[in-house]
Amino acid sequence: MSSLYLDQSYLFTPGPTPIPNVVNAAMARPMIGHRSPDFSVLIEDVATRLQPVFGTKHPVMILTSSGTSALEAAVVNTVHEGDHAIVIVAGSFGDRLASIAKNYGATVHRLSIEWGKSCSTEQLEAFIDSLSGTPIKAVFGTFNETSTGVLNPIHALGTVVKQKTDALFIVDGVSCIGAVPVDMEQDNIDLLVTSSQKALMLPPGLAFVAVSDRGLQAIRECPERRFYLDLKRYVDTYEKQKSTPFTPAVSLIQGAQAVCDMIEEEGWDNVIKRHLLLRDMMRAGIRELGLPLLTSDADASPTVTAVKPEGLSAPDIQKALKKDFSITIAGGQKDLKGKIFRIGHMGYCTPFDVLKVLSALEMTLAKFGQAPRFGSAVKKAEEVYVQHV
Ligand SMILES: *Cc1c(COP(=O)(O)O)cnc(C)c1O
Repeated sequence: MSSLYLDQSYLFTPGPTPIPNVVNAAMARPMIGHRSPDFSVLIEDVATRLQPVFGTKHPVMILTSSGTSALEAAVVNTVHEGDHAIVIVAGSFGDRLASIAKNYGATVHRLSIEWGKSCSTEQLEAFIDSLSGTPIKAVFGTFNETSTGVLNPIHALGTVVKQKTDALFIVDGVSCIGAVPVDMEQDNIDLLVTSSQKALMLPPGLAFVAVSDRGLQAIRECPERRFYLDLKRYVDTYEKQKSTPFTPAVSLIQGAQAVCDMIEEEGWDNVIKRHLLLRDMMRAGIRELGLPLLTSDADASPTVTAVKPEGLSAPDIQKALKKDFSITIAGGQKDLKGKIFRIGHMGYCTPFDVLKVLSALEMTLAKFGQAPRFGSAVKKAEEVYVQHV
């Protein structure tokens, strides 16, 4: 590939995501020691300014590791061997949560949802009822199932958990925190985790854990063996020294400060609205091309769109976008491998970026022998844009 295309390449995977220049610049600032007063100022700034994004009253914990480590931390700091846990599995990330809980010896009750659909309150209610008499320690769920492009109705599910059980509600928010509204108290979420490389516009390498009062109490009281992922240490070290227990990825935290600047400058409400606009533009354009969407409008994620082409190969479309236009999108995972392609539109993504993918898709479909629909998807998406703004 020529260097022109290396410079002009477009990343539309649902993680990692593009990095804004101001964030790159912030990450290039001189190194500071993580036991220095400078670092204390930095981490306090980031941990508190991220609070509205997580909808939490408590400073957000920052771990140096990928998102899965935060899922693992959520498990080992709350669930003990033999405890019963419900895991909502609506795709490959729900499946991962169930595996982690099982690996640590929890008795896992899987609520399996058809891939491509969200979990309804009725499904969760019926499942909890079917386990009546079983003491459930925690209910785990995926906020945005990245593998299918489904946003689960987390507020409604949290309400069911609260009404029907004494369980903690633990949520994997990896591919939507930073793009969707959330209020841990109102949504009844006790632990909410994400990682840096999705909607938060950072490179991979940081994981974040936010807690409710109950979640914090569960962490403090947890007798389970753990070390690097002992969240109590993160809370204590933050409270006592405004630092992290182990050497963090300082540069990424400097980048996170620039992310906070960007979110505040755009306005958190506007960030949320932009992601809904990106979703609506993308779906309108894809529909116009005659490509079936995997999910219903009601279940559709604001951060990733899954497409299930008929009569055309999803991997071929993915490869052509890469080869001809230097656009990277994602394929399907596990059960959906080879059947779908997924376009990420989260974090550092604008309405104009959506037009780039749609125009490339128009040309790609023509290349694969479909009747040309040049300009039609772009036109539809533009119409959605004009109505929204
Ligand atoms: C990306 C992702 C993860 C995993 O994150 P890693 O940083 O790769 O460990 C977990 N859950 C969801 C929903 C994701 O999208």
